[in-house]
Amino acid sequence: MIELRGVSKTVESGGRPLTILHALDLSIPSGQFVAIVGPSGSGKSTLLGLLAGLDAPSTGQIVIDGTDITQLGEDQLAKLRSEKIGFVFQFFHLVPSLTAFENILVPMEIARRRDAVPRARQLLDEVGLSDRGHHYPSQLSGGEQQRVAIARALANDPPIVLADEPTGNLDTSTGKHIIEILLEVRRIRRSTLVLVTHDHELAALADTRLVLRDGRPVTTPVEAVR
Ligand code: ADP
Ligand code: MG
Repeated sequence: MIELRGVSKTVESGGRPLTILHALDLSIPSGQFVAIVGPSGSGKSTLLGLLAGLDAPSTGQIVIDGTDITQLGEDQLAKLRSEKIGFVFQFFHLVPSLTAFENILVPMEIARRRDAVPRARQLLDEVGLSDRGHHYPSQLSGGEQQRVAIARALANDPPIVLADEPTGNLDTSTGKHIIEILLEVRRIRRSTLVLVTHDHELAALADTRLVLRDGRPVTTPVEAVR
């Protein structure tokens, strides 16, 4: 369960405070698929970064399975992130100097898993890249890089998967494949999936849709913001 209570984000912009996410309350039960949609600049990535503990809110509490992550120190937060959250970025964010296999190993080595090597093999297999483990990111297509990034996000079996426009940088058919993988992951692992997307057909498949505009939730139907 993820609960947001009065979560907002204000940044400094040109020497003035600018609120990019207004106080938001949100409950996401475990196993739910939530789609976040809204125009560019509406605060989607800001919200996802807050949910992931990658950024701190200006006000409010973010409670993940009973723990208010805004109260955690850096080490505790890093530990919680490594155990509970897998994050998939729009631009993959793989480490360029590491092979696909090594990229997947990283989070497991941080978590000191003994089964890291066989698990990395299994994860590569799960995303259909068993024969690409020795390739560097620059030797892989965008879709392949994103599959490696998904395998890396799943490395420690996180109950929560967050994805920020994971297909935003891919052609349509590759993007469809990536989404199929994410939905399959969610089905098999019963993980919570919070997905930022511009794809309204995809958003329609979600249990809940959150439409943001100018840092606030919009209550009009998803179709209205096309
Ligand atoms: P989205 O993901 O919906 O496109 P973002 O969450 O990335 O939107 O950004 C929301 C708004 O906040 C945008 O107008 C963006 O320019 C602004 N913004 C985000 N981070 C900062 C920051 N650190 N400083 C100033 N403005 C920011
Ligand atoms: Mg964004």
